[in-house]
Amino acid sequence: MARYTGPACKLCRREGKKLYLKGDRCLSGKCALDRRATAPGQHGAAKKKMREYGLQLREKQTTKRYYGVLEKQFKNYYDEAARKEGMTGENLLLLLERRLDNVVYRLGFAESRRDARQLVLHAHFTVNGKKVNIPSLIVKAGDVIAVKEASRSSDKFKAMTEKNVIVPKWLECDAANLCGKVATLPAREDIDFDFNEQLIVELYSK
Ligand code: SF4
Repeated sequence: MARYTGPACKLCRREGKKLYLKGDRCLSGKCALDRRATAPGQHGAAKKKMREYGLQLREKQTTKRYYGVLEKQFKNYYDEAARKEGMTGENLLLLLERRLDNVVYRLGFAESRRDARQLVLHAHFTVNGKKVNIPSLIVKAGDVIAVKEASRSSDKFKAMTEKNVIVPKWLECDAANLCGKVATLPAREDIDFDFNEQLIVELYSK
């Protein structure tokens, strides 16, 4: 399964936005974007005026990187979103939000989406009682996500139970028992990052 293995902070600096890829570090004074808010590379500090295409491309890249999805898979999500009823851009974000790695992160069982992806790949979670190792699994309303029994005693998950995480209203979390439930499907207003999904639709509609 392909994934980006380069430096995470470089992605934030490229987009000029915090993508929260490194857990607590993103909220600390060590955040690379807070310390050096220029794009990476020799000409990163140069001010560039972006045209319409540039804005659309950057929005697509930001969304992809925020959710940790590569190009081909992102286009597949877009095609699926376009086939659904309703607004394609909104459908796209809601599909990405329902990825299992995102849900694990949003429940507070991982430091970041990247961390969540690793934990899911290493089969630390169950969905409706069955062991899963697919970060891209799309959860449904009523699904129960839990840390598998054998992993619960690990220091990592114990520490997670002590964190005070604000869980979005479409999810229910039982932190003490390291499990959570998809109470309902997410709505656009449940996504708190400042996306402009219309730009992505315009990009792919060319
Ligand atoms: Fe991005 Fe986090 Fe790195 Fe800051 S610390 S640049 S938010 S990944």
